[in-house]
Amino acid sequence: MAVLVTGGAGYIGSHTAAELIARGEEVVIVDSLETGHRGAVLGGTLEIGDIRDQEFLNAVFAKHSIDAVIHFAAYSLVGESMTNPGKYYDNNVHGTLVLLEAMQAHGVKHIVFSSTAATYGEPERAPIVESDRTNPTNVYGETKLAMEKMMGWFDQSYQLRYVALRYFNAAGAHENGLIGEDHRPESHLVPLVLQTALGKREEIAVFGSDYDTKDGTCVRDYIHVSDLADAHVLALQYLRQGGASDVFNLGNGTGFSVLEVIKTAEAVVGKPIRTVMKERRAGDPAILIASADKAKQVLGWQPKRDQLTQIMESAWRWHSSRPNGYAD
Ligand code: NAD
Repeated sequence: MAVLVTGGAGYIGSHTAAELIARGEEVVIVDSLETGHRGAVLGGTLEIGDIRDQEFLNAVFAKHSIDAVIHFAAYSLVGESMTNPGKYYDNNVHGTLVLLEAMQAHGVKHIVFSSTAATYGEPERAPIVESDRTNPTNVYGETKLAMEKMMGWFDQSYQLRYVALRYFNAAGAHENGLIGEDHRPESHLVPLVLQTALGKREEIAVFGSDYDTKDGTCVRDYIHVSDLADAHVLALQYLRQGGASDVFNLGNGTGFSVLEVIKTAEAVVGKPIRTVMKERRAGDPAILIASADKAKQVLGWQPKRDQLTQIMESAWRWHSSRPNGYAD
């Protein structure tokens, strides 16, 4: 039986597909390559197409013996989701509906879903636990919550079991040096800082230095992309062993401040990185960190690369060896 990885040519999807292949799983990747890269596919069968294309997706399920899906295919730019909400509802929500219908039509009952901690919105506390209120403050988070809820109703009606994994920032790159982060446009702090170190950007902006945090800058949660890949594979095992549908946070627990990220990057690259302090941005909470206790207890997840230096070193190996990402 094969695992279908939607969005498997993207950043987190490609690392998860690589992990599945390393464990001897048969992998089928469905990706439109809209934001993903052919070069990120290291094995398995790549089926190029859009999950919203019902005919295409049904043909993929008919061709391969698929017993489970890991679902990454989505748009994920928060800012864009606020200026073009329809684009996000169409790809994320409608795309997931087409996927779940195809799964139902082909008797596939297990799906691991790459959700987001943006489903919580402004947090009630830090670290966030799964029972905390979900109240997204942007369209991206709202569509991801709608996708989770849709899976919940498909479970009630058809016993389709899902695991939703909620996390904040993926970072780092695979230790094999072949795959890493290449988002266009780039919106994540670690690659932005390292691209500044490479001279591809003028400077890195820090928005707000008067927050109630250890050094005044915002604290965020970063997880190594390979630890995220492990968590998706463990969630798949959990479902295959008969686990009930559930939601798990994946988080670092303590988080790192923006200045800590920049200072760690400076230490790793061995030179100062031009940093400019700016005013706070509207809507940026001081601290966003998630508790992963439940994932550790139930799924047996244990992040192996949770030190910021480890994450940064692996990201730097990727960015310094391929400054133009997959174009190199
Ligand atoms: P990415 O853009 O690199 O990967 C998404 C992949 O899905 C791309 O390869 C893209 O081509 C593909 N895709 C998108 N829409 C598609 C469609 N309709 N049909 C077929 N393929 C389609 O993004 P990423 O950073 O790897 O994120 C993957 C998932 O993880 C997303 O769902 C995102 O919401 C979630 N997530 C990411 C982060 C992060 O820090 N990167 C944090 C939390 C959650």
